[in-house]
Amino acid sequence: MSYVDEVYSMVVEKNPAQPEFHQAVKEVLESLRVVIEANEEAYRKDALLERLVTPERQLLFRVPWVDDKGQVQVNNGFRVQFNSAIGPYKGGLRLHPSVNLGIIKFLGFEQIFKNSLTGLPIGGGKGGSDFDPKGKSDREVMAFCQSFITELYKYIGADTDVPAGDIGTGAREIGYMFGQYKRIRGLYEGVLTGKGLSYGGSLARTEATGYGLLYLVEEMLKCNGKELAGKTVVISGAGNVAIYAAQKAQQLGAKVVTCSDSTGWIYDPEGIDIALLKEVKEVKRARLTEYAAARKSAEYHEGKGVWTVKCDIALPCATQNELDLEDAKALVANGCFAVAEGANMPTTMEATEYFQKNGILFCPGKASNAGGVATSALEMSQNSERLSWTFEEVDSKLKGIMVNIFHNLDEAAKKYGMEGNYVAGANIAGFLKVAEAMTAQGIV
Ligand code: NDP
Repeated sequence: MSYVDEVYSMVVEKNPAQPEFHQAVKEVLESLRVVIEANEEAYRKDALLERLVTPERQLLFRVPWVDDKGQVQVNNGFRVQFNSAIGPYKGGLRLHPSVNLGIIKFLGFEQIFKNSLTGLPIGGGKGGSDFDPKGKSDREVMAFCQSFITELYKYIGADTDVPAGDIGTGAREIGYMFGQYKRIRGLYEGVLTGKGLSYGGSLARTEATGYGLLYLVEEMLKCNGKELAGKTVVISGAGNVAIYAAQKAQQLGAKVVTCSDSTGWIYDPEGIDIALLKEVKEVKRARLTEYAAARKSAEYHEGKGVWTVKCDIALPCATQNELDLEDAKALVANGCFAVAEGANMPTTMEATEYFQKNGILFCPGKASNAGGVATSALEMSQNSERLSWTFEEVDSKLKGIMVNIFHNLDEAAKKYGMEGNYVAGANIAGFLKVAEAMTAQGIV
């Protein structure tokens, strides 16, 4: 059996009932096959792949908190510190009822390569809880966040592990967590990113993942003789990534005609009204039915359906495995020619293969959504030097990083004979830097 297949079998055997983690490992290892085979003896001897797929540390803990009725609730807390070869662990905290160890491990594993691709000194980690902030009062969210940090504070710090936001963890949650960390440690340091501007946050962090996605898409199209202006774009999700992806797409001259949440989706042929979407989602924290009620041109549909809309470009920005083979077929049949992932692993492996076989320009999330973590790393730099950069400064650095990421993965794909395969390019470019650092640091 080849080294890659051996390690994949070991992952499945040792991590039962974690399908998302298996999927992420399989996708990465498959596309690294050519690189691994070229260095098999050395990698095998050092058990490099076994070390890469095994987190350095996994923290599982109880998070008790008291709800508004005086009832004690208990959630599971997770932090997986996956790989610190190139810098302190860095990755978001997901608060969603679907969270379990396998999901956090898939996200943490992907984060290693994503962070490496940014060119910045950050290792890979991820965390979260099965707590659902939806429908909770601010006091309940605060009680949960304080309890979560009361355990996690022992393991994080500005030079060890710097968590950030993700699904369900926005500015409110980061604020409560930062406050509790500062109180317990008596230390004012950049231990979390995504902070508010009044206490160490970075301008443009809120916009970074969505904006970065569009900067990368623009470059990918340019390098393939196409342009974004005038194109029709479909987006899923209506959260942080989706909102700012839609905003930047429209600023760059495209028309975004859809968005969605976990209950339904909007088709707005006149183009999504970003100010209204922000009002509904960021201010009122309401359902998309409120968007449709306030806008004549919009249709609201229950369930899933964004990928059936005719478009040139599709940007999945909600959650993992939200775009399957049937969706991919519908997109291709409708003339879509480019897909870039704003979410983490939103496209199933079958759908990804279908896009690639049909000549669709396809960019994986670990490259196209890396603008969020890259700007988090810029927030860390600002915190360390106790300075704040202007919006334009951060935004222009972000753009430079995304353009660089695209060229790095494009070149890696070409170098290994897989021109246009940006999935392979991203995995290879991300992996090589981490592998070199792991090798240089010995068996740790
Ligand atoms: P948000 O919580 O702000 O928004 C998530 C959106 O996706 C919401 O519209 C939500 O709908 C929808 N959604 C979530 N879960 C499901 C589900 N199971 N089925 C259908 N829809 C769902 O999260 P973000 O925008 O921050 O994150 C979106 C994706 O991008 C995630 O995969 C995240 O890991 C990834 N990402 C985020 C980064 C960031 O900086 N925020 C950075 C890099 C990646 P509803 O409101 O109804 O739940």
